[in-house]
Amino acid sequence: MTRFLSRATRIAVTALLLAFAIVQPAAAQEVLRDSETELLFHDISAPLVQAAGLDPHNVKVVLLKDDSINAFVAGGQIVYIHSGLLTAADNVNQLQGVIAHELGHVAGGHILRMDEGAGAATKISILSLVLAAAAIAAGAPPDAGMGILYAGQRAALGDFMAFTRAQESSADLAGASYLSKAGVSGRGSLEFFKKLQNQEYRLAIYSEDSYDRTHPLSQERIQALEEIYHKDPSWAKPIDPALEARFERVKAKLQGYIDPQLAIRKYPESDQTVPGHYARAYAYHLGAYPDKAVSEADSLLKTAPEDPFFLELKGQILLESGKPKEAIPVLRESVKNAPDQPMIAVMLGHALIASEDDKNFAEAKQVLKAAVNRDNDNPFAWLQLGMIYDHEGDTPRAALATAERNNLEGNPKLALTSARMAMMGIPANTPDYLRAQDIYLVSENALKKDKKRGVKVEPREPGKPK
Ligand SMILES: [Zn+2]
Repeated sequence: MTRFLSRATRIAVTALLLAFAIVQPAAAQEVLRDSETELLFHDISAPLVQAAGLDPHNVKVVLLKDDSINAFVAGGQIVYIHSGLLTAADNVNQLQGVIAHELGHVAGGHILRMDEGAGAATKISILSLVLAAAAIAAGAPPDAGMGILYAGQRAALGDFMAFTRAQESSADLAGASYLSKAGVSGRGSLEFFKKLQNQEYRLAIYSEDSYDRTHPLSQERIQALEEIYHKDPSWAKPIDPALEARFERVKAKLQGYIDPQLAIRKYPESDQTVPGHYARAYAYHLGAYPDKAVSEADSLLKTAPEDPFFLELKGQILLESGKPKEAIPVLRESVKNAPDQPMIAVMLGHALIASEDDKNFAEAKQVLKAAVNRDNDNPFAWLQLGMIYDHEGDTPRAALATAERNNLEGNPKLALTSARMAMMGIPANTPDYLRAQDIYLVSENALKKDKKRGVKVEPREPGKPK
C-alpha cells in the first residue's frame, strides 16, 4: 500500500507506506492502489463488463480511501468503490452485486445525462442517496451532491430524486442482467441492499416525511430485484471459493491498512487464518512493530512461499523499516513471480535505490523504466526514476521525470516548468522530447481551464493526464 501525495516530494526514502498507493492529490477523495486488490477487481468485474457490452480495457474499478459505504461512477467508465464499502461487504458476491449495479450506470450513460439535468448534484451517482444522508448524519463534510440536501431546495430535490430513482431502477435491472449473463448469483446484490437498508433503519432516516419520495432504495426496488434474481438459474450457485479467498485477503489487508487498531480487534492473534495474518501484518507494520509484522508475513509465506503478494508484503515491511538490503531479494522474488505487476517492480526499484549502493542503480533504472511503461499512473515511480537521472547527471531527463510526476499529481504549474526545462536539454523530435512537449501542452491547457472554471473537484481519471 503506497502513500504518495506530498510525501512523494520528499526525497527521503524512509517509512513510505507502499502497496496501497494514494494518487489523488487534487480532490477530496484519494485513490488507493494495490496490485492484489486491482487484480481482484479486474477478475471479478471482467465478466460483468463483458456482459454489459463494454470494453474491459476501458472500464476501471478504482478503490477510494473513504470510510463511508458507497460506490459511484464518474469520468465515464470508472467505477469508484469506497474502502468502507469493501470492508463492509461480507463476501465477493456482494461486491460483484455492487459493481454490476454501477456498471448499469456506466452502460446507461447516466452520468452524462445527470450532468445535463442536475447541475451541482451530478457528481454522485450513488448506490442510494440515503447513503448521502447517512454520511451527513455521521458528520461527513458535504460534497456536491450532499450540498443539495443541505440547501433545502425541496423542489429541485424532488425533480432530482425522481430522475435519480428512474436511473437507480434502470441500473438495478441492467446490473441484474449482467449478473445473469455472467452466471453470477444475485444473492450478494440483495444481501448488500438489505444490509444498507438495515443501516438506514438504524439511523432512523426512514421516519423523514420525504422518505417515500426521496428514497431510491425502496422496498419495491428490493422486491423487483428479488423476483428477477430468484428466477435466475444462477441464484443457487455457490460462491467460487478461490475468488472468495482472494476477496477475504484483500479485505483483511485493507482493514489492516485503513484502521490498524480495529483490524487487531477484528483479527485477534487467535485468528491463525491467512486473512488474520494479513490484517495483522499491515496493522503491526503501520503501528511500527516491524518484528511482529515480519513474523506475520513469515506465517503467510509458510502457507505459500511463492505467493508474490506475500513476498511483496514482507519486502515492504523490511524496506519501510529501514532494511532495504534485506528487502531486495524478497522483492526480486516477488517481481519474478508476478512479472506483470508494475507496482511491485516500483517497490523493488525503491529498495534498490534506498540501498545506496551504486551497483544497484542500473537494475533500479531498468526495473522502473519497465514499470512506468506498463503503468504510467504512479507518481512515486517517476520520483524514483528522477532520482536515478539526477544521480547520473542527466538533468533534462530528471526534469522530464519531475514533469511526469507533477502531471500525475495534478500540479500543472510545476509540470509545465519541468517540461520546459526538459525540452531545453533533450534533442528535438526524440520520443522523450515529444513526451515533454505533450506534458507542456496538457499543463498549459489545464492552467487555462483552472483560471476559467476554478479548481476541479471530481476525481481524476487514473492513467490519463489531467
Ligand atoms: Zn445506483
